[in-house]
Amino acid sequence: MAREARGSVAAGSLKHAAASRAPVIFLGPAGAGKGTQAARLADRLGVPRISTGDMLRDALAAGNAVGRAAAPFLERGDLVPDEILIGMIRERIADPDCAKGYVLDGFPRTLPQAEALEQMLGAVASSCVVLNLEVPRDELLRRLSGRGRDDDRGQAVEHRLQDYEDQTRPLVDFYERRGRLHRVNGFRPMDAVSADLQRIVEARG
Ligand code: AMP
Repeated sequence: MAREARGSVAAGSLKHAAASRAPVIFLGPAGAGKGTQAARLADRLGVPRISTGDMLRDALAAGNAVGRAAAPFLERGDLVPDEILIGMIRERIADPDCAKGYVLDGFPRTLPQAEALEQMLGAVASSCVVLNLEVPRDELLRRLSGRGRDDDRGQAVEHRLQDYEDQTRPLVDFYERRGRLHRVNGFRPMDAVSADLQRIVEARG
């Protein structure tokens, strides 16, 4: 086999190996259907779904150091400081069940978190697939006010959507510039959204 051909086969399989370990990242505001779609996709791929919201609620219930540090922010419906989230994710993705990839639901939510994740992933970062679930604001408000969790009420709903606009929306550009962003219309029947997401992820090779 010619030297270049061997080189490109090796590069191809390296790329494949990186893709099979790379995370799928969900963006999108509260109410966009991230949790449900992330769980379905993770099931389908046979990889863990990592929800930072669930991890923080578990830490709070357990009363451990992370839970105690996060408590005042969770109570106010504010984003929890980046250092806490970054430390939590760094540990979690080192677990053996993440070796063949994972689905991130709720992280990153700020630019410093996205930058920290790039560093953690190294060469694998370029194989990430980023899915942005798009749902019109009126529909988000309708869905969230019908959901009934304490932090989903009235002003709290507005507050969370505003945080999304201020802190998380810039990640759409961040990932678009890196050519990893896929926009998906989330204002459709759940199965149609799932089918699109699956197609996008499978197309990455
Ligand atoms: P979620 O269930 O994803 O809506 O998350 C619930 C709450 O956990 C959020 O309102 C934030 O207070 C906190 N949280 C979850 N993920 C993050 C993150 N990546 N950065 C900061 N705070 C987070």
